[in-house]
Amino acid sequence: MSSIQQNIEQITSQIRNAEQKCGRPPESVQLLAVSKTKPIEAILEAAQGGQVSFGENYVQEGVDKVKHFSEQHSNLNLEWHFIGPIQSNKTRPIAENFDWVHSIERGKIAQRLNNQRPEHLPALQVLIQVNTSGEDSKSGTSEAEVFELAELISSLPNLTLRGLMSIPANVSDYQSQLNAFSQLASLNNKLSDKYSGIDTLSMGMSGDMDAAVEAGSTMVRIGTAIFGARNYAK
Ligand SMILES: *Cc1c(COP(=O)(O)O)cnc(C)c1O
Repeated sequence: MSSIQQNIEQITSQIRNAEQKCGRPPESVQLLAVSKTKPIEAILEAAQGGQVSFGENYVQEGVDKVKHFSEQHSNLNLEWHFIGPIQSNKTRPIAENFDWVHSIERGKIAQRLNNQRPEHLPALQVLIQVNTSGEDSKSGTSEAEVFELAELISSLPNLTLRGLMSIPANVSDYQSQLNAFSQLASLNNKLSDKYSGIDTLSMGMSGDMDAAVEAGSTMVRIGTAIFGARNYAK
């Protein structure tokens, strides 16, 4: 077994343990493997070990990978999630190539993704990215604006709203992590009272996964703990 496959096995058992510790049913949390900056070979290793869902942050890099796998390894049936910031002039390749988008924070982006989603593909599965820390420097819509954006998205036929995503401030103490994640979870509950089909809470990364699971995450986004540290200098 490759080291990437071993890492996935280890993370998966960490997720199962976290679920069990807080009384959540096994497999209520899905693992999204964040492969940004990592080569095709690393993704292939993960996929050959059974990993299906991958997250990418950069449009061109992500599209190249999606195309490579649909052309060379269509049997693997990978699922691709766009999780990075979105500029409005880059929405088309995202709408044409990805299955999920976690990082919708403006109506204009939602509208463009809807208009550019090709007819032959199923609706794009989307999450609203929320800025739970309230810091101006962080991406995500404010909590106050979530419902307005949700109303717009639910009117768009080529998008399906599935829930919320956030990247909270990077803190190391468990209680602070838990507080930020619980805030998002309670917002997602309110959203699901209002809209049907809300079943996804994308939160938790390599450094704060356990708190995210305790707070109700259904999808953890793990990069470093699977593929190793990223080298942006290359
Ligand atoms: C890079 C990234 C991750 C993965 O972070 P790690 O700390 O490497 O696990 C998760 N979510 C988003 C939005 C990211 O950009």
